[in-house]
Amino acid sequence: MDQKNVLDLFRKSGALLEGHFRLTSGLHSGGYLQCALVLQYPANAEALGRALAAHFADLNATAVLSPALGGLIIGHEVGRALGVRAIFAERQDGALTLRRGFALAASDRVVVIEDVVTTGGSTRETIDVATRAGATVVGAGAIVDRSGGASKLDVPFRSLVTLSLPTYEPAQCPLCAQGVALTKPGSRT
Ligand SMILES: [Zn+2]
Repeated sequence: MDQKNVLDLFRKSGALLEGHFRLTSGLHSGGYLQCALVLQYPANAEALGRALAAHFADLNATAVLSPALGGLIIGHEVGRALGVRAIFAERQDGALTLRRGFALAASDRVVVIEDVVTTGGSTRETIDVATRAGATVVGAGAIVDRSGGASKLDVPFRSLVTLSLPTYEPAQCPLCAQGVALTKPGSRT
């Protein structure tokens, strides 16, 4: 799957909208991305998981680790494609941690998988969870990289799509200046 195929899947499922949006942060953007909408179709999730897993096929991974909630579905599908278990870390008192009896051993070779990487913060945090458990992180991946290459990681990082979706303060928004109608993603009319 190349970048165009992936973006077509996103557009067809309404996971990538182009226009003029007011985000929950209050900022404006010309694009809106919601991975859950493409992943709601299991066939899409499976295909994206297989494509992402192909980048990590040579690493002898033994487990996929994802941050909840966004990384769950794609992490599971990458685990399926690699033939390894897929576990997740979730927040407890603000910090990502392994719960539910999930464990990693020193022999584990972990691939960290997320849906979208924006700043790289939660990817780094998830890498730390695996490292603290004594495992080796051999790679990290996401369906979409919207960091613009800003997310510096200590492990090889691969994504299926690189997207730049700039956000603007309303007063500086070029789309407002052009008089483009503003919509709130997710609202139905
Ligand atoms: Zn605007």
